[in-house]
Amino acid sequence: MKNYMRFEASVSPLYSNSNEDLWFSFSNGKLIVRSNGDEVSILTKEDLKNLNLRLEYIQCIGALDGYNCFCCQVGEDIQLPSEIKLYDLKSLTLLLEEEIFLLAAKSLLLLNWQKTHRYCGVCGHCMERKNSKSERALFCPKCGYTTWPQTSPAIIVAITKGDKILLAHNKYFPKGIYSVIAGFVELGETFEQCVRREVYEEIGIRVKNIKYFGNQPWPFPNSMMVAFTAEYLDGEINVDEEEIVYANWFSKDELPKYVKSKSIGTELIEWFIKTH
Ligand SMILES: [Zn+2]
Repeated sequence: MKNYMRFEASVSPLYSNSNEDLWFSFSNGKLIVRSNGDEVSILTKEDLKNLNLRLEYIQCIGALDGYNCFCCQVGEDIQLPSEIKLYDLKSLTLLLEEEIFLLAAKSLLLLNWQKTHRYCGVCGHCMERKNSKSERALFCPKCGYTTWPQTSPAIIVAITKGDKILLAHNKYFPKGIYSVIAGFVELGETFEQCVRREVYEEIGIRVKNIKYFGNQPWPFPNSMMVAFTAEYLDGEINVDEEEIVYANWFSKDELPKYVKSKSIGTELIEWFIKTH
């Protein structure tokens, strides 16, 4: 089992406490890590003890390689020694190994969930952590309403037309940066319907041959990106100008700038480069 799954999910500690337990600690949405040049590592219990910070929203998330893993939040005005740094999690996709990045993502998702569910959505009373060793939930002691961790599914799609890929510039991207098309799934919609709708709404074209590609939890703030490839069917590019301000077909020799990270959007573009 150990080799099969390095990480064992759990809402309560699986092993006795150790100074090597991992603490995924965030301050104002940023991950606190031990940093040595380009090498970054997650804080251990010993690191955290030495920093002497006030911790809140502590949750056990499970264990990695036999060491308990926790997530927590610390205050915003903290003094850190030079070897301890705050990082935006997005910038760590290339610096952390994938398994660790996903645990950091899980931690941030759980902290975001807990912070945004402090009060009951039905009666407004303070929510409490459900006292359970097997279930992660918040419940209202007044009316009994219970809520579980949530994620918002979104699609992301690489559309090809012969030897070209459709890339777009979104007004929220940095200047000159392009990516594939993405959008949130609406309630009651399948992923495939969402691909067709988003592409039609944002770009004005129709697609065919929608195929599943992969997925990635993306805790900014709580998405689950589900990736597809699709082929151009018909229509002329006509951007919505609300989000997408420019889109075009690019061959792999004339690709514009895109973000090189371990995000699934980058993986889709790299898949295109390899296969076309
Ligand atoms: Zn309530």
